[in-house]
Amino acid sequence: MLLADFRPKSQLVTKTTLVEKPRVPVIDAHNHLAEPFGGGWDKKPLAELLDSLDEAGVVTYVDLDGGWGEEILNTHLDLFKAKAPARFQIFGGVDWSQWESKGDGFPDWAAGRLRVQKERGAQGLKVWKDFGLHVRDHQGEMVKVDDQRLLPLWETAGELGLPVMIHVADPVAFFDPIDETNERWEELGSHPDWAFTSPPFPSFMSIMDGLASLVVRHPNTTFIGAHVGCYAENLGWVGALLDRCPNFYVDISARIGELGRQPYSARRFFIQYADRILFGSDMGPDKEAYRIYYRFLETDDEYFNYNTGDIPLQGRWHVHSLFLPDEVLKKVYSENAKRVFGMG
Ligand SMILES: [Zn+2]
Repeated sequence: MLLADFRPKSQLVTKTTLVEKPRVPVIDAHNHLAEPFGGGWDKKPLAELLDSLDEAGVVTYVDLDGGWGEEILNTHLDLFKAKAPARFQIFGGVDWSQWESKGDGFPDWAAGRLRVQKERGAQGLKVWKDFGLHVRDHQGEMVKVDDQRLLPLWETAGELGLPVMIHVADPVAFFDPIDETNERWEELGSHPDWAFTSPPFPSFMSIMDGLASLVVRHPNTTFIGAHVGCYAENLGWVGALLDRCPNFYVDISARIGELGRQPYSARRFFIQYADRILFGSDMGPDKEAYRIYYRFLETDDEYFNYNTGDIPLQGRWHVHSLFLPDEVLKKVYSENAKRVFGMG
């Protein structure tokens, strides 16, 4: 038998708690609506989408797809926000490809587009992972995450009250050689373009140092570090940045695989930083996916698959739940998001 065909069945006799709805209604701070991550809801009836969200106990859904371009931003504002304003928040983005033609004027131009996007209805700024890995300036130089020239962009986001949802670098293993020691080997096998082996790419830590200095340098701008601050493997590092920067928040989307394999540290992290953590799933409006999150946060169930599929996608391990106290759940599920997104 090949190792790839091995499907061990756990013989543990433990409980499985079905949590159909969250303890309190949820704000999902990190998700998508169109392909490839959101399930193509721009082509399906809105009523069906609202029903799925109701069934999952999600009152407001943050859609980050506008970060892919102003055309998508405008389409999503019309398709979703205009029709159900309380149910959606749509984030805008930066068109880095314009740096080449705008030259030295790019940062001011990008800040100006942010104003236009806000006027049009955008409620935040999404920064994708190509920032720090692929984005280049007009001279073809790689732009560092904490590049001083971008000051107008980050300061304008702060001035406009637009929170910046930023994803850089993560996960760590994507920077390692793709060999038998790489814990995301299977995932990289199915997505070879997700590998950023360093060199030639910058090292993981150099990008993360850039993120930290960016957040430190703009205390009037709110940054949300996607996927547990882009470093779910190292909650000590994330906690240190949260300690240092009151303008820094994290979402937990797509990382219960990481949190649930270090349940003691994760539980302490949630309790210590209860005011700084936002719920998010990044799995589309999928009821079954939400239920795994609720089970993970609320129950004391042990050793279960953190994905809906047969084989866990980010590594073949199982997770343990965190049985968070009610007051922590309330903050993580909705109170923190209400504050960060300025929802009454
Ligand atoms: Zn996402």
